[in-house]
Amino acid sequence: MAGMLYLVPTPIGNLGDVSPRCRETLESADFIAAEDTRVTMKLLHYLDIHKPLVSYHEHNKAESGGKIRARILGGETCALVSDAGTPAISDPGEDLVRLCAENGVTVCTVCGPCAAITALAASGLPTGRFTFEGFLSVNKKSRAEHLAALVGETRTMIFYEAPHKLLRTLDDFVQTFGSDRKISLCRELTKLHEEIIRTTVGEAAERFRETPPRGEFVLIVAGAEKSENVEMTMEDAVSLVQNRIAEGMRTKDAVKLVAEQTGIAKNALYDAVVK
Ligand code: SAM
Repeated sequence: MAGMLYLVPTPIGNLGDVSPRCRETLESADFIAAEDTRVTMKLLHYLDIHKPLVSYHEHNKAESGGKIRARILGGETCALVSDAGTPAISDPGEDLVRLCAENGVTVCTVCGPCAAITALAASGLPTGRFTFEGFLSVNKKSRAEHLAALVGETRTMIFYEAPHKLLRTLDDFVQTFGSDRKISLCRELTKLHEEIIRTTVGEAAERFRETPPRGEFVLIVAGAEKSENVEMTMEDAVSLVQNRIAEGMRTKDAVKLVAEQTGIAKNALYDAVVK
């Protein structure tokens, strides 16, 4: 009989967030697949759990995923963990879950910490409808396309960001959403220096220009007001296109994206841009 794949979320800071079920699942698995075995060893040491570890990360996932699948099909139970939070959410695991599901392996998930949802809940921004955007790409073109696709987004948006890239991201948010858009910057969640900064995109950019950011951040950005799209003028749309071009996008692609987002006719927008 085939074994199972368990997804096991681990604390994003506070070890008190290890649930009894997380502990039991790690204890009962035949082996644990970990993003960074050194990080997971520390958690296992704290929990006094001794299990064989295999490494499963972004750069070995094809090879390691195949071996894990074979072991599970051979009857073993695997618990998958990442460095922190829920595996498969901006973390290795998505491919392994797909591989297992396609091979008829039961995938069972333990409930637990996830930085995105923890931040959203504490943000003070609307939680009824939201989108998870993960990390913005460092590649100029895909980054610009990603942001352009969010111009008219009315749902609350969740982003992950590393501290050394935060300021650039906030500057891009000012360009994309305007400096008055509300943002909650959720820093060091569940840790000693947990902080939630509820401000505007423009003020956040100024603040971190003066004081370099430290720690881990989730950025929760308010969606556009429904009326913002309707009221967007041709002049505003042209300026959005120009921003995208300045970021390296081709004129044709920038016009297409902004036209899609604003509902302004593509040909009219193109004419206005080239004029
Ligand atoms: N899979 C994880 C989860 O579900 O929480 C996310 C992994 S992703 C590689 C790491 C990012 O999550 C960080 O760059 C940061 O944006 C966010 N993050 C993780 N822990 C955090 C914390 N304690 N406080 C704020 N953000 C955190």
